[in-house]
Amino acid sequence: MNKRRISKAIKIGEVTIGGGGPVVVQSMTKTDTRDVRATIDQIKELEEYGCELIRVAVPDETAAKAIVDIKKGIKIPLIADIHFDYRLALAALESGADGLRLNPGNIGEADKVKAVVLAAKDRGVPIRIGVNAGSLPVTVNRELGIAEGMVEAALEQVQLLESLDFDLIKISLKAFDVPITITAYQSIADKTPYPLHIGITEAGTPRTGIIRSTVGIGTLLWLGIGDTIRVSLTAPPHEEVTAAYEILKSLNLRQRGPALVSCPTCGRTEADVVALAQAVEAELARIDKPIKVAVMGCVVNGPGEARDADVGIACGKGRGVIFKKGKKVAVVEEKDFFTALMKEVEGL
Ligand code: SF4
Repeated sequence: MNKRRISKAIKIGEVTIGGGGPVVVQSMTKTDTRDVRATIDQIKELEEYGCELIRVAVPDETAAKAIVDIKKGIKIPLIADIHFDYRLALAALESGADGLRLNPGNIGEADKVKAVVLAAKDRGVPIRIGVNAGSLPVTVNRELGIAEGMVEAALEQVQLLESLDFDLIKISLKAFDVPITITAYQSIADKTPYPLHIGITEAGTPRTGIIRSTVGIGTLLWLGIGDTIRVSLTAPPHEEVTAAYEILKSLNLRQRGPALVSCPTCGRTEADVVALAQAVEAELARIDKPIKVAVMGCVVNGPGEARDADVGIACGKGRGVIFKKGKKVAVVEEKDFFTALMKEVEGL
């Protein structure tokens, strides 16, 4: 892995982004922000999954005002996502938003951005300049290509913010196209000191979206680029958080929660290993102990293949062997596979 790019550190609420610190996992609510109860419930669920920053859409003034009450019910910092109307950014700041995300392509004239920047500066609230390939400002030179166009759009806004003596900046350059996204982030990484929020936008449903996101985000992280990530999925937001951690765990960048080792099954398998592995995975998602759990399809190779697991099960016909650190500790009936394994997990 390339040496990590050390960016300028900024703080969103109590969470530090950049400066060589841990890559921060964030997500976005999918509830109507005006529905305070539903939004709090979704954020609290995301907190259980380890989400560290939450972004909410602010489509109107009622949503901006709802931030006051939403913040009372949650623990993690909240970022207000603003499009088109700079007055909503001002209202969100007024309501106590810990961060703002602005799309320079649709906020409009510099004096509107300026009003927001001055209000954010007063409160010490960072702003993410969030450029999307699909909504580049008309001023951008399209002959440069989309990746460089996104970089130019972001740098134009960076200059505007810096001219107002504001440097609590974070940048994102998202596209659906993975090579364009990687090229854009590589380009801007050398041109600014600010932390980068990385992700692949509108990546799709979990089946394809996790793959697209993993290739894009994983490649950038491998190149040493990226301070906070969001996996965008057409799915409940906790799936975004789970996928984000799996990407970070795969690269040994974060260790939150268990790792599940499960065999692909083969002609030796004599139990429903797929259903068992899925049930165990769902249960483990809310646990934050950094343990390794194995679900294996046979007693012949299972314990050996998962030797370094903290706890595991090797399923045979009607019976399974529970093992710890590769050593057999119990034999259980098929109906008890799940409960026996989870009992061992809880005891770790
Ligand atoms: S652990 Fe056993 S059942 Fe699973 S893939 Fe390996 S040999 Fe097949």
